[in-house]
Amino acid sequence: MRNVRPSQTLAAVLFVALIPLADIPASNLCNAAEPPVPANAPYRNPNLAVEKRVADLLGRMTLEEKATMLSGSGWMESAPIDRLGIPAIKMADGPMGVRSWAGSSAATSGANAAVRVESTAFPSGIAMAATWNLDLVQREGQAIGQEVKALGRDMILGPTVNINRIPLWGRNFEGYGEDPYLAGRLGVSYVRGVQSEGVIPSVKHLAANNEEFERHRLDETIDERTLHEIYLPAFKASVQEGHAWAVMSAYQKVNGVHCAESVPLLTDILKKELGFKGFVISDWGSTYSTAPTVNAGMDLEMPGGPPMQAWLKNPRTQQSGNSDGWLIADKVVAELKAGKITEATLNDNVGRILRVIFLSGIFDHPHTGGGEVDTPAQRAVALEGATEGIVLLKNEGNLLPLNPRRIHSIAVIGPDAAVARTGGGGSSLVRSKTAIAPLDAIRERAGASGPTIRYALGVGMEGENPVLDTGEARAASIQGAADLAANSDVAILIVGRYSKLESEGFDVKTMDLPAGQDELIEAVEKANPHTIVVLNTGDPVTMTRWIDKTPALLDMWYGGEEGGRAIAAILFGDANPSGKLPVTLPKRFEDSPASVHYPGENLHVDYAEGIYVGYRYYDTKHVEPQFPFGFGLSYTKFALSDLRISQVKGGNAVWSVTANVRNTGNRAGAEVVQLYVHDGHAKIDRPERELKGFHRVELEAGESKSLRFTLDRAALSYWNPATHAWTADLGQFEIEIGDSSRDIRLKAPLTLAN
Ligand code: BGC
Repeated sequence: MRNVRPSQTLAAVLFVALIPLADIPASNLCNAAEPPVPANAPYRNPNLAVEKRVADLLGRMTLEEKATMLSGSGWMESAPIDRLGIPAIKMADGPMGVRSWAGSSAATSGANAAVRVESTAFPSGIAMAATWNLDLVQREGQAIGQEVKALGRDMILGPTVNINRIPLWGRNFEGYGEDPYLAGRLGVSYVRGVQSEGVIPSVKHLAANNEEFERHRLDETIDERTLHEIYLPAFKASVQEGHAWAVMSAYQKVNGVHCAESVPLLTDILKKELGFKGFVISDWGSTYSTAPTVNAGMDLEMPGGPPMQAWLKNPRTQQSGNSDGWLIADKVVAELKAGKITEATLNDNVGRILRVIFLSGIFDHPHTGGGEVDTPAQRAVALEGATEGIVLLKNEGNLLPLNPRRIHSIAVIGPDAAVARTGGGGSSLVRSKTAIAPLDAIRERAGASGPTIRYALGVGMEGENPVLDTGEARAASIQGAADLAANSDVAILIVGRYSKLESEGFDVKTMDLPAGQDELIEAVEKANPHTIVVLNTGDPVTMTRWIDKTPALLDMWYGGEEGGRAIAAILFGDANPSGKLPVTLPKRFEDSPASVHYPGENLHVDYAEGIYVGYRYYDTKHVEPQFPFGFGLSYTKFALSDLRISQVKGGNAVWSVTANVRNTGNRAGAEVVQLYVHDGHAKIDRPERELKGFHRVELEAGESKSLRFTLDRAALSYWNPATHAWTADLGQFEIEIGDSSRDIRLKAPLTLAN
């Protein structure tokens, strides 16, 4: 991508504007009059404190230069200021690896894309969330940071930490599930990993980007408590603990105002309440005004320059609601002149971008690219994530793991079997160098001397091939698959969706599996009772038609390029399943708490379910889910014991909670021990339980480990709308330890006395 020099393109515009702007006192608008910058200018000194460098550099910038920095210079580049050596921030989409930066996902994901970027396709966010493995997510972030650098870029547009509010959100696969605590821990890990490489993450999308339906025009009404307890904690953690350098604002409106011009969200909460010191970047085409956006604290509008102009001319871009380039320098300067923006505000906006340019190191050590991408070590992280993210949901009669000595023939069936469907669609979909389909990986694992592997499509993937997409074609294909299953020892059915059915830009139409897949499962299960169903989706699916007859069920989400190999390892028992659901799987869409409010009416959606999202709703209102939050089986068993709670001496309301976990089975495995807080005495309605801690722990057969959790007052608190603050009511709480929100094994009281 060619870097446009906004300072040059602007020269003509500003020449005309120069006379009326002459009354702006503090700064000079014309670059040409500026003296050259001495080589020893303080801001160039890497040993000087960052804040001093920022102040020195800001002091040398003209108003024009500052205004220029508020909008991008290209599809994925901020504006460089060559006179001062300020580099462009070169971005790449994410979050599951590095996607092309040459244009929109629609333009760059095709086979003939102008710039072909191939990098490691890491598992989807929801798959990584199912690992509950913070160290692994940090290593993933680091690996992605390395790839960003190797490709000569500076910033990755991720992580996505938006909460899974409704089962149909097109981007549920990108996020970390329904729980704000879990999403926060994972967000922090990802951010730390990326930043450890000197690469800038972008925690997105602030806030409450929970449906794709009319994402530019939708207005969400969300009360203060719900925002603080459900939709903001992952941002809070990423900012306060991860020290994230950038946050991306969301497309839609919250409480009547577009997120990019929301003073409550960007100024009051993000910058003041949470103390965010980095910069806010807009989502692509999500700004709708000049002064209100700048004044709200939206620091960098994207995209910009000629690519944005070309994109905006496209009628589809306009139809979908993408807006104009509002923060281009001439508009910003005009608003400054009109007194609608102050130079102090502009200094804050620009200062934040400069701060990150210094903090990340890209000023002193530009990423020149040319490094290796998709190294064996990076692929290994992808495989680890895909494997640990797989959730074993059912395993009657220990059908799994498969024993190749006893099984002679396996039928592998389904529209997700022979194709590697690595991720959902949109800006996060990575083109990988290699990706292995489950069928190939199962063949690879079975080897020449193992069981015979035969394949049947079962049904075509809805929308993929019109010839297969008819009732007749499906019926014939299902019959063929059932015949194959009947003549095999075991059938493995790999079903689900793909990037054109589950994607950014639109929501999933129904929680049901795509056309023909339920019928396929029923027919195959009837033909062979030894049927293992594997789901490859990011969103929950309806299972009621077949689940009672399904002996074994696995969820592999979208496992990235190594998803196939991961599922083969789990099926054959080379790896022991350890994934746990980061989201409740409801029985029916209508059971989910926000279903009645979705998608809203007249472009307005009321978050009337409030804080009762996910298990907070199912557990409190006693609605039976298909599978509960936190649930996942293993090929071994674990016992929990010895729950003890003690107040930490000298600590102000800090407790140490210990418990023992033992692998009581006969093979090694990993358990995720979950800590929930129950508050039965609060002066306000509270959910039955809330996750406040977890440990993923690896144990050999027979091995025990003692786990320690630390709880503080914050873990006991709710957001009090009366005082606009976190509050914990004095009294007795219950600490619950379990391996899902519905399987609490240990309980003990904890008293907050002062
Ligand atoms: C998405 C962002 C993405 C951006 C750039 C937007 O459509 O919502 O998540 O980073 O495009 O591709």
